[in-house]
Order: sequence, then structure tokens, then C-alpha cells
Amino acid sequence: MADRDGFIWFDGKLLPWREVTVHGLTHSLHYGMGVFEGERAYNTPAGPAIFRLQEHTRRLFNSAKILQMDMPFGEAEINAATCEVIRANGLESAYIRPLAFYGAEGMGLSAKGLKTHVLIAAWPWGAYLGQEALERGIRVKVSSFNRHHVNIHMVKAKATGNYLNSMLAQREASAAGYDEALLLDREGYVAEGSGENIFMVRDGVLYTPTLTSALEGITRDTVMRLAGELGIRVVEKQLTRDEFYIADEAFFTGTAAEVTPIREIDGRVIGSGSRGPVTQRLQSLYFDQVTGKRKEHPEWLTYVNDV
Ligand code: PMP
Repeated sequence: MADRDGFIWFDGKLLPWREVTVHGLTHSLHYGMGVFEGERAYNTPAGPAIFRLQEHTRRLFNSAKILQMDMPFGEAEINAATCEVIRANGLESAYIRPLAFYGAEGMGLSAKGLKTHVLIAAWPWGAYLGQEALERGIRVKVSSFNRHHVNIHMVKAKATGNYLNSMLAQREASAAGYDEALLLDREGYVAEGSGENIFMVRDGVLYTPTLTSALEGITRDTVMRLAGELGIRVVEKQLTRDEFYIADEAFFTGTAAEVTPIREIDGRVIGSGSRGPVTQRLQSLYFDQVTGKRKEHPEWLTYVNDV
């Protein structure tokens, strides 16, 4: 990732990609306190547009607030900088990674007097779990790792340190031959994937777990609203793993994963074992929405060439 052409916005300036380096005593490298976002820009008929940029930036700032990290820039500056990164790199579509972290000004857990540094990088990135996954669906395994308890980590923050838990779960699932992990909360209810929210369909109703131990996904919110527009009833409640085993359909949502069907959980085939009809409708509406093919929700698209 480090050795490529292009520009990264770093602490207020666009720098050549290879020059965005940090010292080995960078605080966040040692203790995992940092906050980040994952966003996507899509190629639309009116040029590249970032999907729900304002909501992503707001979540970045909320994450910093939860962790009490002072942000040296305002939300409007970050929004403008994100558009600038897409333009400077000449990208038509991209995955975007804003990151705020503590620098190497000092060591110690109090993090007193440390500066928050901010970078925004963007690069082309196709389907996170593979193009085939979007069509055929993926195989998922319930993890031996639980998702964070609210008094261990705070999951409303998209914090770098929270992702140790995600990585342990993802690597365990992948070593066992599965595509992705499904994490339960400390009470045993379904929480989310290592980097995705989860949904299931039963008798035409769309269900998704409550957010006690899961990130407030922006794709999750988008899909719930699109489902409402299609007249599909959406229910948010605590869900057990066996409710997923006997679902008609299941899918993951996330900026990276988009809408990825799940065809198997723990050796149980979900529904017909392929992308279900409700999943397909929502997935196709989602792609129409993010690529500017719908007239609804123009406020969700920030056209980078117009800013
Ligand atoms: N849960 C976790 C743990 C995630 O990392 C992500 C990706 N940001 C999501 C859910 C989905 O969130 P979003 O739809 O906002 O990308």
C-alpha cells in the first residue's frame, strides 16, 4: 500500500503518497487509540460522488468525541479535503480511508499533550468479499470470539483498537475455510460481522439486530430506509443464531461489503442457498442509489467536482 503514486491529505496538505510516513514511537501504533472511517465514492453520470460523506464525517467526529481525542479540523474542512483527495488522484470510484491518530509527541497511557493527526487516503477497491460473493453469497461461521461488551470497548466509536476483536474473528473464520465471521454479543445474541452489520428475512419481514454491541452502520441505515421505500417491514430486535439458521435469506451490509448475501451459516444452508429475492431487490436498489441512478435522496451524494 505504501509504494504507489498519488496523493494523501495529511494534516491539512496534500502530500505525495510515499511521503506520508510516521515515527516508530507514534502513540496510536502502541496503544491502538485512533478513529477512522471507511467510505466509498462511486462513478455516477455526473462524475464521482461520495456516498453519505456528511454522515461518515459526523461518525468520525463522534468517534473522536467518545475517545476524547481533540480534532484539529472541523467537519466542513474534512468534507472538503475528502473531495480534494478524490480529485487530486483522478479517481472515478474509490474506497476512502480517513484516519485520526495520536502522534509521537510523547508516550504513556494518559496521552496528555499529544497531537491528533489526520490523514485521508483513497484508492480503487472493488467488491470487498469478491464480485462472486455479491452474486452467489458467502459462507459464514459464528465466531468463538464475542463482540465487545459496552463496558469493555465502546462500539459507537469506529476506533482502531476495536478491530483487534474483528481481526481475531475474521482470521479464525478464514482459517476454518469460511468467508467471514459472525460475532455474538456477551449475552449470546447476534451482533455483527467483523466489518459488517447483518440482516435476515423471514416471511417477507426484514430483521436486524439492535445496536448494543454493533457499529451504527451507515449502509445498515441506508438499507433499512430503502426497504421502507419498497414497502418491506423492518424490525430491529435481539436475534439468536438459530433464528438466522432458519431464515429465508440473510445478508451483510457495509461500505466495503455493500450488500453481500449469506448462503450458509455454520453448515446450515440459508433459504435456497443463493441470493434471495428480497436481498436481490435491496442490493440492486442500493447500487442504483450509490451510483446516482435514483432521483430519491440527492442529499446522500456529494459530487466531488461540484465542491
Ligand atoms: N460493523 C463494523 C464492525 C464495521 O467495521 C463496519 C464498517 N464500517 C460496519 C459494521 C458497517 O458500517 P458502514 O455501513 O457504515 O460501513
